[in-house]
Amino acid sequence: MDTQVVIIGGGPSGLLLSQLLNREGIATVILERSSRAHVLSRIRAGILEWGSVEMLREAGVGARMDREGFVHDGTYLTDEDQMVHIDFHALTGKRVMVYGQTEVTQDLYRAQDAMGTTIVHGVEDVRILDLDGAQASVEYVLNGERKRLSCAYVAGCDGFHGVSRKTIPEDRRREFERVYPFGWLGILSHTPPVSDELIYANSPRGFALASMRNANLVRCYVQVPLSDKVEDWSDARFWDEFSRRLPAQAAERLVTGPSIEKSIAPLRSFVSEPLRWGRLFLVGDAAHIVPPTGAKGLNLAVSDVFYLHQALSAALKAGDETGIDGYSGRALNRIWKAMRFSWQMTTMLHRFDGEDSFAAQMRRASLRHLAESETARRDLAENYVGLPY
Ligand SMILES: Cc1cc2nc3c(=O)[nH]c(=O)nc-3n(C[C@H](O)[C@H](O)[C@H](O)COP(=O)(O)OP(=O)(O)OC[C@H]3O[C@@H](n4cnc5c(N)ncnc54)[C@H](O)[C@@H]3O)c2cc1C
Repeated sequence: MDTQVVIIGGGPSGLLLSQLLNREGIATVILERSSRAHVLSRIRAGILEWGSVEMLREAGVGARMDREGFVHDGTYLTDEDQMVHIDFHALTGKRVMVYGQTEVTQDLYRAQDAMGTTIVHGVEDVRILDLDGAQASVEYVLNGERKRLSCAYVAGCDGFHGVSRKTIPEDRRREFERVYPFGWLGILSHTPPVSDELIYANSPRGFALASMRNANLVRCYVQVPLSDKVEDWSDARFWDEFSRRLPAQAAERLVTGPSIEKSIAPLRSFVSEPLRWGRLFLVGDAAHIVPPTGAKGLNLAVSDVFYLHQALSAALKAGDETGIDGYSGRALNRIWKAMRFSWQMTTMLHRFDGEDSFAAQMRRASLRHLAESETARRDLAENYVGLPY
């Protein structure tokens, strides 16, 4: 065999899986379609569950996160006249870490370089073959030349648009999907946050999220129709709309500035089952997508990696295949609960076009219930900080 595990995709799940396997002496090769600069330019997740924090430390990439990340004890949920604080630490004893996905990915690339892992960028036409044989193989084209690698297992960490999921025959896959009729317009700006913690704001004009990366870098979002384009939104229009959706006490602290990144992400819930097909395993966004309300996407990728690295390690080092047989069921059990939470948060905080007057009342009542019931707040906090692995 050329290597033990071929990993398709050099995003956070592929890099973290490789890092954990390499530390256990298991050889990997990562095949990534894009350049490293492109992977590192994608502005995405920013909130790490405590389980993810501990996984990154275990992988030997926690030092900069612990130095530069911000620990948050809670978050705010608001509408026009209520501001509910969810105190994660008081309710669950746990916290979350504000540390951008770009930084996590950067730290993983550096650690993988230090280990001398082969990461091939710019691969095209990846094909995953021989999944039911004694060994698998992966073909790809690099600089116009077709190449082939043989391996024991293939990890499909290539995101929603990758090739791995589609390698499982259509009639053996079950896909579950909900597409939401809006997207999130997000900007990144070198300005101070309006609050010490994130604010998830439901307003009659739609949802807004005031998030941050550090004391002078904010990530702010507003819900927009799917038909909107980034060019429709000048910085001035964005800040005006954003401030109208925030509660007054936060809006009055808003400092605006030029955006350094602006993009629109559609919202979707999606799961493909099973996560294993012969010698191929699906990990992270290759298998599932959550709407970002609730900050679960990157964290689910990390929990998939947790289950799979344990399973592959047992199979390759001790010949014990129980873990790889159980991977799909174990990971999906956690995935579906995070799906439920993300869907619930999305429904509770967004305005749906064409909705009846009852829907807005339900959102107000949900927030009031959270304000008045510690049990409800604890349930939200338990899910937000991350369910146990
Ligand atoms: C705008 C936005 C905001 C988000 N916000 C949050 C948030 O706040 N909190 C949160 O937890 N999550 C968030 N997410 C989700 C989070 O970013 C993803 O869940 C996470 O990136 C999943 O990591 P991954 O490695 O599985 O997939 P990806 O990050 O998609 O990485 C897959 C990699 O595979 C590569 N690839 C694709 N096809 C091929 C191929 N055929 N061959 C080789 N390589 C290939 C891609 O180039 C990519 O580098 C957000 C996502 C988006 C888009």
